[in-house]
Amino acid sequence: MSRVYNFSAGPAVLPEEVLKEAAAEMLDYQGTGMSVMEMSHRSKAFQGIIDEAEKDLRELMNIPDNYKVLFLQGGASQQFAMIPMNLFKNKVGDYIITGQWAKKAWQEAKLYGTANAVASSADKTFSYIPDCSDLPIDDNADYVYICQNNTIYGTVFHELPNTKGKTLVADVSSCFLSEPIDVTKYGVIYGGVQKNVGPAGVVIVIIREDLVTEDVLDGTPTMLKYKTHVDAGSLYNTPPCYGIYMCGKVFKWLKAKGGLAAMKELNEKKAKILYDFLDSSKLFKGTVEKKDRSLMNVPFVTGDEELDALFVKEAKAAGLENLKGHRTVGGMRASIYNAMPIEGVEKLVAFMKNFEEKHS
Ligand SMILES: *Cc1c(COP(=O)(O)O)cnc(C)c1O
Repeated sequence: MSRVYNFSAGPAVLPEEVLKEAAAEMLDYQGTGMSVMEMSHRSKAFQGIIDEAEKDLRELMNIPDNYKVLFLQGGASQQFAMIPMNLFKNKVGDYIITGQWAKKAWQEAKLYGTANAVASSADKTFSYIPDCSDLPIDDNADYVYICQNNTIYGTVFHELPNTKGKTLVADVSSCFLSEPIDVTKYGVIYGGVQKNVGPAGVVIVIIREDLVTEDVLDGTPTMLKYKTHVDAGSLYNTPPCYGIYMCGKVFKWLKAKGGLAAMKELNEKKAKILYDFLDSSKLFKGTVEKKDRSLMNVPFVTGDEELDALFVKEAKAAGLENLKGHRTVGGMRASIYNAMPIEGVEKLVAFMKNFEEKHS
């Protein structure tokens, strides 16, 4: 068996220790004589798994008691609709457009009411985070929406926008658990776990309890009401059991690594290796404004499409996989999530140096 360094943006690398543990428990989960995949979601064993996962997540993120934690399906994309369906009272949402995912959420919200684009970085291909200190927030806005880390473009809100007292809603799919955050600054935090937390099929929603009501838009399906899932402890219907189990294992792995503060330190160290090289390279260059650089997704280019393609091909042959940039931006992108070992980043940079020597 040989594993590669997988720089995929998602589904993405998972901690090897976690995969090994899951493999060891595949046929017989803790003496139950069955795999978690084969287990009733109403069983005592599974209730233990989901309870423990929630407890560990609460501990990792320091989630206050007045926030609910949900393990749902439908991916991050389903939240684009669930948010307006559940949160629209005045039917107004203010969106900050920093990339494709924010744009998709904004467009979806327009199906249900007024969705304002209060800021955008589309003018420079989403290569920066706009100044959000004094936005034209609508007096009637039910919330202000951000995509906190922009997976495709490689930017991140290092500072949260000034929402002028409005509820902040954030898609944290690609920066979930990468560093400590202050949960109390948000009304809703959500993310598809396949970027930085677990396997595809689970979306985690952390929502302040006053936002969970029966007062949702007319016609909202039962399955798309937060209240349905809050009341049932994420077990209204069959949840993505195996995915939740894997997330739980990643939470334990994060705790054993020292939690999110330790993760942040490691992620900063990893990102610095790559950004320092990009800043000194004559061939490669980063594509986003330095102040807004993501710790998780690092896009870069050579400026020559053919050379980019050759780089991706040769990197793959050297065991460095999935470095091709998103189809809408081209070039390369290295996603260096929590589970990417520092050795993977070092090997990537060594490979880039070598490639640069050969081609300049
Ligand atoms: C991947 C991604 C999405 C879409 O996630 P799905 O689970 O595929 O719907 C949304 N937002 C961000 C920030 C992402 O990175």
